[in-house]
Amino acid sequence: MPQSENRTSLKSNIAVVIVAAGRGARAGGLVDGPKQYRNIGGQPVIARTVQAFLDNDDINQIIIVTHPDDDDLIANATSTFNSDKIAITHGGATRQLSVLNGLNAIQSADYVLIHDAVRPFVTHDVINGAITELMSGSQAVLPALAVSDTLKRVDARSIITDTVPRDHLYAAQTPQGFAYAAIHNAHMHAQHAGRTDFTDDCAIAEWASIPVKIIAGSPKNIKLTTIEDINMANQSFQNAVFADVRTGNGYDVHQLVDGDHVTLCGVDIPHHKRLSGHSDADVALHALTDALLATCGAGDIGDHFPPTDPQWKGAASFIFLEKAAEIVREKGGIITNADVSLIAEQPKIGPHRDKMRASLANILNIDLERCSVKATTNEKIGFIGREEGIAAIATATVVYGVTS
Ligand code: MG
Repeated sequence: MPQSENRTSLKSNIAVVIVAAGRGARAGGLVDGPKQYRNIGGQPVIARTVQAFLDNDDINQIIIVTHPDDDDLIANATSTFNSDKIAITHGGATRQLSVLNGLNAIQSADYVLIHDAVRPFVTHDVINGAITELMSGSQAVLPALAVSDTLKRVDARSIITDTVPRDHLYAAQTPQGFAYAAIHNAHMHAQHAGRTDFTDDCAIAEWASIPVKIIAGSPKNIKLTTIEDINMANQSFQNAVFADVRTGNGYDVHQLVDGDHVTLCGVDIPHHKRLSGHSDADVALHALTDALLATCGAGDIGDHFPPTDPQWKGAASFIFLEKAAEIVREKGGIITNADVSLIAEQPKIGPHRDKMRASLANILNIDLERCSVKATTNEKIGFIGREEGIAAIATATVVYGVTS
């Protein structure tokens, strides 16, 4: 997240008041509980809201203002947070009085952000934008979006009386940010003046002649007002696409016998021995073929190319790997990585590695950077150490169920 030099060096004392005392009449009222405690994506709305502010290291106090009837609900919703930044206080009869209770509960603060609990999708950019604006000297800051809909005023019979010019009109969001002393004073003056009808805190700042600076809000920072809003927010989590990433592994070994070259990853390497097998005995491509088939439960190389079948005698093994890639793609897979480890004393693999990677990329028709070839000796131990054979281990990563 962007942090200005100014902010990180100032280490100011920033508090947040999250207003959660509403009864949520428009979202089904008390039948299913207030909307800030409803679950969206398996988590209470208010828990998501609190998390957004906990994630911001500049904030050192979070006051949640709740209804006295909701003590169990808020205790449950915040039970997973283990943070001494969080404190809970009860609200008053109106939103305005609830905010004042929240401001009174703050021990000390240079700045305060006041946020509606039912805006759980507030972005880090909006929070940081408000903090940055306060740090640069503004007494009050309001994230807002320019109004894009055409606005109509109607009479009591729902007949349009006029079209309201939308120039210079903004839709207000939260968190609204303030110099703490300024907004606390304004709230107390409003209460003493008998004004309890302000619907947001910037309105109180305006009433107290505190200039309020508009900054960019976010279209994501929606207010969950109705039961439809809650259901849509919940649905958006259920529709989230989780990539179906699968990995498969494969292993192969072939014996070395007298000869003049070995074929590894489809590359011929001069050597005084050759790998013995029904096909060209390319252990690397055989292991990788098995790894690919394993990502979609398609058996192994022997199922598709039986060594008893004379048509595969002396076959170039890229045919097997091409076939495995074709099977994977027919099942909707996208090959995202092919990784081969060769275990051999001789010949040296290093000088041929790039050519082998290019060969894999070519056979699989994927980017070079998605192909890896590594090699190790067996420290002269066992049959590989005695140069009686070469082994290969392969891992394939395939993403299924997305259209490329
Ligand atoms: Mg084999």
